[in-house]
Amino acid sequence: MNFCRRCGASLELVNNHVYTCKNDHVIFANASPASCMWLVNDRDEVLVATRAIEPGKGLLDAPGGFNDGAETYEIALARELEEEVGLTPSDYTRPEYLLSWLDKYDYKGEQIDVLSNVYWARQIGSPTINPQDDVGEATFMPIADVDPDKIYFDAVRQGFIVLRDRLKQGSL
Ligand SMILES: [Zn+2]
Repeated sequence: MNFCRRCGASLELVNNHVYTCKNDHVIFANASPASCMWLVNDRDEVLVATRAIEPGKGLLDAPGGFNDGAETYEIALARELEEEVGLTPSDYTRPEYLLSWLDKYDYKGEQIDVLSNVYWARQIGSPTINPQDDVGEATFMPIADVDPDKIYFDAVRQGFIVLRDRLKQGSL
């Protein structure tokens, strides 16, 4: 960040994520909130999306994305699931939190710090999966067949590993 968003003066880095300008405005550069969800069906298969756009085009992902404006995680996650794979909250159980993780997201040349919450849920019934937006394909795969190294985002990969290990232990 170079300029104060309140007055336009040059910013000086105070420490870590805190900036100040000559008019004593204090600007915090916090990570952007995002979320995603691993959806599991009754055969313990997981819904895996293939990224249709850069960054990470062709690599694996879970449906999700950035919170828009002042959205809660609940609202952002429901919106992203609907936009990306055409599912509404009646198509899955209440999302359960797995972990949070910090990622870097390369957006048009800017490195954005992303604070991702990763969730999981069980599918209810047999809804039609309808990939769109930045999702190329979305298919259910046996969890053992998913190679974590092919998952693009660190947050999504770490969440997958926690989910896989808990399902294996029978603790979910
Ligand atoms: Zn200022």
